[in-house]
Amino acid sequence: MAMPSAPILQIALPVPLPRAFDYLPPAGHDACASDVGRRVRVPFGNRELVGVVAGTGPAAAQASDLRQAIAFLDQAPLLHGELLESLRWLARYTHAPLGEVFATALPAILRHGEPLPETHTPAWRLTAAGQAGVVRLRAGTRPRRLADLLAPAPISEDSLDLKMDQWRSAARALGKRGFAERIALPAHGLVADRLPGPVLNPEQQAAVDAVRASEGFAAWLLDGVTGSGKTEVYLAAIADCLAHGRQVLVLVPEIGLTPQTLARFRSRLGVPVHALHSGLNDGERARAWMAAARGEARVIVGTRSAVFVPLPEPGLIVIDEEHDGSYKQLDGIRYHARDFALVRAKALDVPVLLGSATPSLETLHNANGGRYGYLRLGQRAGDAQPPQVRVLDVRKRALVAGLSPEMLQAIGNALQAGGQVLVFKNRRGYAPVLLCHDCGWTAHCRRCDSAMTVHAGGRRLQCHHCGARQAAPPACPDCGGLALQPQGIGTERLEEALRERFPDVPVVRIDRGTTQRRDGLGKLLASVGQLPAILIGTQILAKGHDLPHLTLVVVVGVDEGLFSSDFRAGEKLVQQLIQVAGRAGRASKRGEVWLQTHHPEHPLLNTLIAGGYRAFAEGELALREAAGFPPYAHLALLRAEAQRVEAVQAFLSAARRALAAAGSDGIELHGPLPAPMPRRAGMQRMQLLLSAPQRRGLHRLLDAALPAVYELPEARKVRWSLDVDPVDLY
Ligand code: ADP
Ligand code: ZN
Ligand code: ZN
Repeated sequence: MAMPSAPILQIALPVPLPRAFDYLPPAGHDACASDVGRRVRVPFGNRELVGVVAGTGPAAAQASDLRQAIAFLDQAPLLHGELLESLRWLARYTHAPLGEVFATALPAILRHGEPLPETHTPAWRLTAAGQAGVVRLRAGTRPRRLADLLAPAPISEDSLDLKMDQWRSAARALGKRGFAERIALPAHGLVADRLPGPVLNPEQQAAVDAVRASEGFAAWLLDGVTGSGKTEVYLAAIADCLAHGRQVLVLVPEIGLTPQTLARFRSRLGVPVHALHSGLNDGERARAWMAAARGEARVIVGTRSAVFVPLPEPGLIVIDEEHDGSYKQLDGIRYHARDFALVRAKALDVPVLLGSATPSLETLHNANGGRYGYLRLGQRAGDAQPPQVRVLDVRKRALVAGLSPEMLQAIGNALQAGGQVLVFKNRRGYAPVLLCHDCGWTAHCRRCDSAMTVHAGGRRLQCHHCGARQAAPPACPDCGGLALQPQGIGTERLEEALRERFPDVPVVRIDRGTTQRRDGLGKLLASVGQLPAILIGTQILAKGHDLPHLTLVVVVGVDEGLFSSDFRAGEKLVQQLIQVAGRAGRASKRGEVWLQTHHPEHPLLNTLIAGGYRAFAEGELALREAAGFPPYAHLALLRAEAQRVEAVQAFLSAARRALAAAGSDGIELHGPLPAPMPRRAGMQRMQLLLSAPQRRGLHRLLDAALPAVYELPEARKVRWSLDVDPVDLY
């Protein structure tokens, strides 16, 4: 008997299949369009999953074959409006399952189906009796002091912690008399103190004015060296948005979101600033996300995944250090937070401000082509001087832990003059290789095509790719000889050599090994204070914390980046050099930067020294155009791995045939080729690169071919993923 089929729910589930799943609505509910965006619990196989309703429609299969959803988890849609549409766009762009995109966007707690968290902040306020009775409290006592603090407005418990010692006992006393009460306030109901900022210089003011005058969506590149006052431009533009009742999202790189940065935003904006980063627990992350969704969070400062916060009252998106590599997600849904932020700004119809001292070539290309407005801050703000950069030729010099005699002399002089010195070396550990001097054996990881890094002064070996660790062998496993020698220089070895050479000053090594704990870096830096000291660091030191007493920056190991096969290696090297150089001379002391190299004539260094980043970037863009690399071509990388290389080869070959069959006109297919590191953590890795002159053609091909790729029998024997706009080709 044919029944008129009732509408069904099309549910996006976090499973690696590129489609929605049909379910009957929960008992007693008729599916309707307003269910879209609600979380729902459903049976899936023999377990339960939490999904999000992506649509409704007439039953595709015989309705009686469909399983029934168990229950909705939200009364109203959790994902809706612009965010929902932007996430649908992201799923199309990354060619990823919508359910996995939703799961990436939602904080873990919400993704797992827990109820929406409370977002209000505990605070204290005076009751009417308290307002009337303040004057009767004895002056000078703690309850009186607290009552005076609370008289103008309620204050959050966080702020009270900062304002008054032992306020809790005073609050109890006031509470007992009925003078004060504990309440929960939305964040925007709270006022915070606000410090004035400096008077903006004309360039800064022009930048703020340009952003303010944007009508709806506009992208602005704010190009200014470190210390030129970009953050002051952000703060002024944000304050302007707040004054118009709008929310602001600020994205910062992983290592840029320090307590210092947050404190600066908090003290200057006069509203609570919500942070969203990997240091928070799941509950805190969900609360910040929900506070944004409810419009309570007015300013959200966060790292990559903060790009997914809902913005019901949007005014501006700021992306600090837009070139930073940490904006790209390297597994799961491989989104680029900068690029997605631009898509959202456009959909939200608000301006987006991209700041950098070293804009990515993609962004410069967009600015050159007039798609982004260009704002420049030419000078360092205040009275800071630009550092002087020198290239030091170390050929034929006797090196001590990789440092030449001239360099050691310069370090000594800087310390003597009362300054601090930063020695930058982007390699953790003691030495990158352990070598047998008798037979040439080197320590390799058993599971990766990589040497093991020597740690702990030579006692331990560690693989930086799979994490494997072992004690260093006492003798060569091949020839039994005892001439095992660490080769090359890591930060630990630099530390050892510099301690020996400068025994009277503190030598502080700062890398992932020494800053595991939260704000370990801040504490380490605080321990040094203003006294002469040597800091040895990896890129973790290149940004974030202010180091006003730094007068000399020494860069060791420039050469490793000069001859890489990665087409982005030059860009990354130069960005890092400039970032590190920017650490010198931030206050009134003029800084110096010394680059040590065996290739003083290398064109990259020469262009950089003579013409700065702009000259380098223009030259590099010309090279990319000639070679057909981004931003002049559009790439997608199909990666696959398995224990057996034959399985990987078979899958990628079949995928290549599927792509070719879909008619890859004008799109080049390279591979299958071994990945630059063909074996990692025991897995054999290969890849297939797609390169297209036009973005649209690339997506058309992927749309046409991917359904077949998902269905390939070979796909079941490998782990595979697609990376659209890959940053690293491995
Ligand atoms: P950036 O974000 O480009 O690195 P900041 O905004 O942090 O630069 O500014 C660098 C330093 O200069 C900060 O200490 C800041 O307070 C100061 N500064 C910025 N703009 C001005 C200004 N117009 N007048 C005086 N000092 C300023
Ligand atoms: Zn040997
Ligand atoms: Zn390994």
